[in-house]
Amino acid sequence: MDSPKRNEPRSKLFEDRGVDRRDFIRVCTMAAVAVGLPASVGVKWAEAAAKGLKPSVIWLHFQECTGCTESLLRTSHPALAELILDLVSLDYHETLFAAAGYQIEDALKSAMAANAGKYICVVEGAIPTKDKGIYCKIGGRTAIDILNDVAGKAGAIIAIGSCASFGGIPAADPNPTGATGAPQILAGKTVVTLPGCPANPYNFLGTALQYATFGTLPALDDKGRPRFAYGRVIHEDCPRRPHFDAGQFVQQFGDEGHRNGWCLYKMGCKGPVTHANCSLQPFCEVPGAWPIGIGHPCFGCTEQATAFRIPLHTTVEIEHPTPPDTYPPIKADHGRISPVAAGVGGLIAGALVGAGVVASRKLAAEAEKEE
Ligand code: SF4
Repeated sequence: MDSPKRNEPRSKLFEDRGVDRRDFIRVCTMAAVAVGLPASVGVKWAEAAAKGLKPSVIWLHFQECTGCTESLLRTSHPALAELILDLVSLDYHETLFAAAGYQIEDALKSAMAANAGKYICVVEGAIPTKDKGIYCKIGGRTAIDILNDVAGKAGAIIAIGSCASFGGIPAADPNPTGATGAPQILAGKTVVTLPGCPANPYNFLGTALQYATFGTLPALDDKGRPRFAYGRVIHEDCPRRPHFDAGQFVQQFGDEGHRNGWCLYKMGCKGPVTHANCSLQPFCEVPGAWPIGIGHPCFGCTEQATAFRIPLHTTVEIEHPTPPDTYPPIKADHGRISPVAAGVGGLIAGALVGAGVVASRKLAAEAEKEE
């Protein structure tokens, strides 16, 4: 990948990338707020990136569809992909590199040697274990060998997406290759898991930048998931929750309740058992761009016991059926199913993103004044 040169003047970096500086700072502050850090930390990230001080990332691909990489890069705001690549030094990535064969194998060795003990090893995809792992080999080595080698010399390990986190689709029954996740291969090591099909780019960015800035990882749950993103079930923050509490359920796709944004529980929504921040942290800054937002039940893709295990339209047990003390008015605008897949856009921004946007705008404006 082309990377801005170290110590390049800040303004030139933005000019060369065709990126508005305020957008750059906005993305940084949103990522900081997303991981529970002050928005001012995001400004520090932006300044560090502008000086070329970026975390080295070695990105491995195994059994997967490359959807997590796609969601990171193919946004509806093309500048966002540019901004993300300005914040990390992507030193090895098989999908994005033009090189192949021995050339890219050398690139991997060089990147590992140059940043040994410091780089972030990102794993995308499941790892096959059956028959000594022969079902995924790159450069003559099995995925198991590559993962043990690269992760063993890393400073931090992030398993991005459901496949890398616990096996995902490749591990679905009957799991012909014995696919499993990175934490199972790297037993005893700390592996941050960011399950999702795909994972939200902001959750990755916030985790990577926290490590780069402070040398620490976010607080994790017992499955290695950052609590800032996976601490609550979707059902708790779902914009359709008032309809659940009022007993207003979609009975079939296209009925009046569906067109009016009612609760999808009876259609098999797994939101009540799925820990994720999809409703609070829109994918790639596009409000409503998530399953429930476009009128489809949550599939539970962040949960090993649910995703690719429980049939899509099978309902799940509700752990906490009691309505909360307070919730939005039922007459609030929850959107309607339309050609633009509206659903619930107005409410989706939520307090978290709202705070990030407000803070980032303010900080960006202040930074402009200082120039
Ligand atoms: Fe939202 Fe699904 Fe819960 Fe209904 S069941 S409120 S659609 S998460």
